[in-house]
Amino acid sequence: PEVVLKANDLVKHYPVKAGVLRRTVGQVKAVDGVSFELYKGETLGIVGESGCGKSTLGRLLMRLEEPTAGTVEFEGQDWTAASGRTMRKLRRDIQIVFQDPYTSLNPRMTVADIIGEPFEIHPDVVPKGGRRARVQELLELVGLNPEHINRYPHQFSGGQRQRIGIARGIALNPKVLICDEPVSALDVSVQAQVVNLMEKLQDELGLAYVFIAHDLSVVRHISDRVGVMYLGKLAEIGEEDEVYSRPTHPYTQALLSAVPVPDPTLRGKRDQIVLQGDVPSPANPPSGCRFHTRCWKAQDVCKTDEPQLELRADGTGEHPSACHFAEPRQVVETTDVSGLA
Ligand code: SF4
Ligand code: MG
Repeated sequence: PEVVLKANDLVKHYPVKAGVLRRTVGQVKAVDGVSFELYKGETLGIVGESGCGKSTLGRLLMRLEEPTAGTVEFEGQDWTAASGRTMRKLRRDIQIVFQDPYTSLNPRMTVADIIGEPFEIHPDVVPKGGRRARVQELLELVGLNPEHINRYPHQFSGGQRQRIGIARGIALNPKVLICDEPVSALDVSVQAQVVNLMEKLQDELGLAYVFIAHDLSVVRHISDRVGVMYLGKLAEIGEEDEVYSRPTHPYTQALLSAVPVPDPTLRGKRDQIVLQGDVPSPANPPSGCRFHTRCWKAQDVCKTDEPQLELRADGTGEHPSACHFAEPRQVVETTDVSGLA
């Protein structure tokens, strides 16, 4: 498959400052060496608990932040080093949809101005005289009434506001949409509608999504492949059905075992793995495997040797996993809890 976006060993460290002199006393390792490929037209889900670095990863891909190390390539071009014309072109090709449709839309701007704003920044995409018509077309595409073009964000529901955010995200015909928790602020019933809309747009427009979320069922529904993040690193990455039904990393196994089972006949039929302790601070990740402080399978080697994200040397496993003792563990299938079509 054709690679559209590529992360090469991305790192983002933030200085931790303390005292009246604001001296740097350490580094928060928000993203600490993440590599993956995003294929044309696919959805790569990125899951993990809050604080695992997934939002920072999204901002690095979008170049809202500069990486401490590593690069992002778009269609083979180094996007992290681009400037001038190349940078402006890439700014069109990669767009973002934010989590909160309540705060990401300017309350004093009409829908026409919000969705049309990218055309002011990239005036050559749609000629001035055609912009209103293009905004109306976008409104229709996301399932909103094109006659509501002069309304303000507060006149729309949460789900409709996220549709406006999506319309703005696709206004410049991007090839990649970074979606940072796009439905987690919405009611469950509305989540399904927005996710279904995103799938429809993907098919119609050939978009590739990086879909960042903490909700395992939503990510399972929309993703072709899934990467699981823990403390700034990918623990496991693979096809959606492999990662969900035969996870090989103990962290993924624990996460999946904690998803509520709505089917009462399945309750109690699986071993829920309860992780000990909290997620350690990303300013001071554990040595060796950073999951070792909470892992029930940890051995001495885990405290000293950092496992690489790769297939096991003996060829076992279907997808890369960053565990010295990776092995598939059947997880009882959960029925879809979110009513997604
Ligand atoms: Fe657990 Fe060791 Fe595997 Fe890390 S490498 S996930 S500590 S078994
Ligand atoms: Mg899809």
